[in-house]
Amino acid sequence: MEFLRKSLLFLSFLSIFASFAGAQTNVLPDSSDVLDTIPYGEQHIVLYKANVWDYVIDPEILARDKAISDTMDIFTERWNNEITFPYQWPDPGPPPDSILIQLVDDERGFVLPHYGMITSGFGWRYGRNHKAIDIDLEKGTPVRAAFDGKVRYSQYNNGGYGNLIIIRHFNGLETYYAHLTTRYVKPNQIVKAGQIIGTGGNTGAHWTGAHLHFECRWWDHAFDPLRIIEFDSLRLKSDSVILTPADFKISQSHKAYVNNGVNGQNSGTAVNYGGNNVTNNKPVETNASASGKVMGNYYYVKKGDTLSAIARRFGTSVAKLCELNGISKNSTLHIGQKIRIK
Ligand SMILES: [Zn+2]
Repeated sequence: MEFLRKSLLFLSFLSIFASFAGAQTNVLPDSSDVLDTIPYGEQHIVLYKANVWDYVIDPEILARDKAISDTMDIFTERWNNEITFPYQWPDPGPPPDSILIQLVDDERGFVLPHYGMITSGFGWRYGRNHKAIDIDLEKGTPVRAAFDGKVRYSQYNNGGYGNLIIIRHFNGLETYYAHLTTRYVKPNQIVKAGQIIGTGGNTGAHWTGAHLHFECRWWDHAFDPLRIIEFDSLRLKSDSVILTPADFKISQSHKAYVNNGVNGQNSGTAVNYGGNNVTNNKPVETNASASGKVMGNYYYVKKGDTLSAIARRFGTSVAKLCELNGISKNSTLHIGQKIRIK
């Protein structure tokens, strides 16, 4: 009888899901409006009377992690729910020296956010500086948190990420989950490794198929997620990792690929990386000492910047930046160049 009741509830859940999946909201009714709770792996799905639902983790575990996180500097310093790169803003720090990161321990594990074909790796791709891996998925596929942590950012990002969730983890890393169709988590919410945080899609990148754009960053500095993940076995290569400055650089081979160019594909923004002289008919006024700074509505280009990175950082688009500055998306950026951002 109990089984039948659960089965019927599950069926009614499925029909609710079918009707209201698109209307799933983060503004949930309070607990007195709970209709039922259905186990789902290590978490639960809670159904509310108002035909909305949510994934939940054991509240005691979440309360404990919340209390722990409240005592940790990492969850208070440079904590910002509105910008994508809180460590670099307003000052860009240099990439860190060698750092040892304890990724997981007995208490806190790792779960691959989604397993599928990797369609684009970390590094230069078609003239873009791609600081992520792209994992193919069907639109609507659940995407999971990689490690335990606290949601730092959950909103639609106009800079190209689309629906974006950023989680800051107890191990010090931040992970980025972009182009999502649905976001199930709110800023400042505690999440556990493996918790479903949203579903995949192609928001902000509607010209391509659905995929998960997954980034790993240490203090805003991106490194190849495959540096730590043994992808096909769905686990980490090791419980800890030592990242060196080389891990935060875009590899030479990828640069060479871009320099050689592939007709019609090398459409990204060229950046003056090494400080070499770049020939350009139109002289650009630069102020190298202001590089990386924000002053009023202006930002001064720093080493390694691209228009798309600047757009993402300030929540705008490449097209908007081009319009504001009278430049094209292929314009060469110069270190210290003054760019209007709004
Ligand atoms: Zn990507």
